[in-house]
Amino acid sequence: MEKTLLIIKPDGVQRGLVGRILARVEKKGFKISAMKLEKISKEKAEVHYAEHKGKGFYLELLEFITSSPCVLAVIEGKNVIEGLRKMAGKTNPLEADIGTIRGDFAVVVSQNIVHTSDGIESSKREIENFFKNEEIQEHILCTEQWTYGR
Ligand code: UDP
Ligand code: MG
Repeated sequence: MEKTLLIIKPDGVQRGLVGRILARVEKKGFKISAMKLEKISKEKAEVHYAEHKGKGFYLELLEFITSSPCVLAVIEGKNVIEGLRKMAGKTNPLEADIGTIRGDFAVVVSQNIVHTSDGIESSKREIENFFKNEEIQEHILCTEQWTYGR
């Protein structure tokens, strides 16, 4: 099934929001296939945010994402890439709808709590940057038939 990378950024971890964010993911019916707490290295951060190199916010973004541990998770589910982007809300928390993670928990764009992959290609690249294949569990939840049908 489709997979995406969820990062609970340093602000989400420091503010004690990990449990609440993961609870939303689980409540939706998405599955955690891998998860770890990691202080992201400068090298991995550069790979992860390569598309933003040269932009005005790039250096601040690298500095922030490497400043303190993040929760890195592979989340799996039907249309999970689009689904988790919707749950995260718009990049700028002030534009994000109330009910989304960013809309409910964040105020400024530079500290917007979560990252989620924006497409199939980026999700593959981003997951590979942070996880070895053997770290990802191919497991079936007993609730899946009640989430997706038989
Ligand atoms: N960002 C920022 N200032 C901006 C635009 C983006 O600090 O003007 C940060 C923000 O934390 C965002 C990240 O850079 O989550 C990556 O930007 P992108 O446009 O890829 O947004 P996302 O995919 O995270 O919604
Ligand atoms: Mg992005």
